[in-house]
Amino acid sequence: MKIEEVKSTVKTQRISAHSHIKGLGLDENGFALPLASGLVGQAQGREAAGIVVDMIRSKKMAGRAVLLAGPPGTGKTAIALAIAQELGNKVPFCPMVGSEVYSSEIKKTEVLMENFRRAIGLRIRETKEVYEGEVTELTPVETENPAGGYGKTVSHVIIGLKTAKGSKQLKLDPSIYEALQKEKVEVGDVIYIEANSGAVKRQGRSDGYATEFDLEAEEYVPLPKGEVHKKKEVVQDVTLHDLDAANAKPQGGQDVLSMMGQLLKPKKTEITDKLRREINKVVDKYIDQGIAELVPGVLFIDEIHMLDIETFTYLHRALESAIAPIVIFATNRGRCVIRGTDDIVSPHGIPLDLLDRLVIIRTLPYSRSELEQILKLRASTEGLEIDPEALSVLGDVGSRATLRYAVQLLTPASLTAKTNGRDNITKADVEEVSSLFLDAKSSARILSDNKDKYMM
Ligand code: ATP
Repeated sequence: MKIEEVKSTVKTQRISAHSHIKGLGLDENGFALPLASGLVGQAQGREAAGIVVDMIRSKKMAGRAVLLAGPPGTGKTAIALAIAQELGNKVPFCPMVGSEVYSSEIKKTEVLMENFRRAIGLRIRETKEVYEGEVTELTPVETENPAGGYGKTVSHVIIGLKTAKGSKQLKLDPSIYEALQKEKVEVGDVIYIEANSGAVKRQGRSDGYATEFDLEAEEYVPLPKGEVHKKKEVVQDVTLHDLDAANAKPQGGQDVLSMMGQLLKPKKTEITDKLRREINKVVDKYIDQGIAELVPGVLFIDEIHMLDIETFTYLHRALESAIAPIVIFATNRGRCVIRGTDDIVSPHGIPLDLLDRLVIIRTLPYSRSELEQILKLRASTEGLEIDPEALSVLGDVGSRATLRYAVQLLTPASLTAKTNGRDNITKADVEEVSSLFLDAKSSARILSDNKDKYMM
């Protein structure tokens, strides 16, 4: 397995509700445009977030974090995601909820560490020299089996290649011969061969072959005549967690990251501190060599009051480490007891020493017309057509319950429309689904009004 096959483990579903958001939507002076980059209203919050982006860019955020404070459904996740997008294309964004750290299987600090590493990207740039040409010779060279064994084995293969620049004779590894046989490559075929950047590593091998190239068998792809490949820059974005996971659970027992060095021991099944240290070492090496570059992303921790004093202490330390993502907390709580302490009350349930390091941004409830604009945006992102009256009813729902709830009603409403043979969502569809489902506030009210009918 090569690094190209390391699957990214981004938490897609959680971000998909915000797929319409493309950035903070600020003008060149840092002022919020009423509707831009998918964001509506919340001008002060967005402008403050823009300043945070400037601080991050000028490296003034080290050891600090951001807190978004505001009522539910005021776009805290949306703004955090927009900050990540402002920092650049493919900057990792890792959302989590404070309560995620309480798992019966994994230590609290382990969950945090994993998410930290999900929020740190690594951009790997690899230039591959590509040789394309017509095969003029294909000779497997056999030698006596070493160490007194019987028979002969293919020790290397000689390939003649007529390239645009002239003819070349390449002396290559026997595994390549097998690959060529599998692809039924014959003299006269046009093939291309990628020499990857690991080439130098093989130089000086005592057995004397493949000094020029270090090729993976899979890299042999016969091409139709006429296509020309010269230099190919392969860029891949992974997170440190992707690397941890790929090394911890090797698939097929092969070396997982041939390009990241051979640090793999095929039996590993879990991510340990030791494995992480090894990965860090290889990553450092590749950064030094200019092959890879770190891309610190954004770790978003919602409902921060759910963390306890132990995790806060850990977080505090993690914020100071040499490679840390930008950490953005969110809360809708005011003063409350810090979890894990008996009675220490503090703003947002955050210990004061951590609070000291936070840049706090406030988010405010949306106006009625802003709610409708956001709902309209979501509908169009999901490819739904919605009548103006239906939008207005949904706006009512949003101001009565929460914006998130109103957004969630879009999908069932569109299904109702389809059932009735329509493409557009009408007022009746929205009324029907909102009578079928309950938002959290109404559900809680019904429960408390009918306490005696439920088990305690
Ligand atoms: P919070 O964390 O404050 O509850 P959130 O960002 O997680 O907020 P909601 O505010 O409930 O989620 O947002 C519901 C939907 O509305 C999401 O799809 C979100 O992307 C979108 N949204 C929220 N605020 C805005 C905004 N200002 N402009 C555009 N879309 C928004």
